[in-house]
Amino acid sequence: APLPAGPLSVAMERVSFSYEGEQATLAEVDFRLQPGQVLGLLGRTGSGKSTLARLLLRFYDPAGGRIMLSGIDIRQPKLRELRSRVGMVTQTIELFQGTIRDNLTFFDESVDDERIIGVLGELGLREWLLSLPQGLDTRLDSGGGGLSAGEAQLLSFARVFLTDPGLVILDEASSRLDPATEQRIEQAMNKLLQGRTCIIIAHRLATIERADRILVLEQGRVVEDGERARL
Ligand code: ATP
Ligand code: MG
Repeated sequence: APLPAGPLSVAMERVSFSYEGEQATLAEVDFRLQPGQVLGLLGRTGSGKSTLARLLLRFYDPAGGRIMLSGIDIRQPKLRELRSRVGMVTQTIELFQGTIRDNLTFFDESVDDERIIGVLGELGLREWLLSLPQGLDTRLDSGGGGLSAGEAQLLSFARVFLTDPGLVILDEASSRLDPATEQRIEQAMNKLLQGRTCIIIAHRLATIERADRILVLEQGRVVEDGERARL
């Protein structure tokens, strides 16, 4: 069965994982999210937050337990399908050497320029795009050299918008950006959250306020799981 359209439910069922046989990075992580819910994921550095996110995109498979999206085991769909329904905005922006268009679409030629320009406009990048001599054909260096941190972050939002996922994972950067950029990221986040299930690895207070639920990890274990109001 294909993953359904619209917001996805998420179930992690006693998921365990370790890198290279080291001690458990995630131990029996168990939680459920309803379609459209926003989960704030908190925990100290090294507690396993980004690892949990990577498992949802199947960068790795769990050593134990299973992960379900709207009742479908994530090992069922093809990787390409899974990653078009689950989008992630990461801390380190993974841009490659190539045009802006290719960076945003991963060479999917069915995505037309009008749509890309529309999404960039929604994210407040219209002026920026117009300032580039070659527009969408402008080449980026790997790692996004030549872009400001804010622009690079907004481009990674654009990438996720273009696939219109039913689950969005936001691995928020902990470093602070300038206030104007912060505000643009805030707005982008608000748009991205609408009508989608979200997991936000949160560093900012504003983000936590937005969450319906908070999950706290400590050394790969869930130590708190509750409605925000109760914590
Ligand atoms: P931060 O808040 O700093 O981003 P995090 O909660 O996202 O931390 P993870 O990146 O998930 O933490 O890391 C969890 C643990 O797994 C850490 O001990 C880390 O050193 C280890 N780890 C992360 N990535 C790898 C990897 N690719 N290979 C081996 N160990 C890793
Ligand atoms: Mg992390």
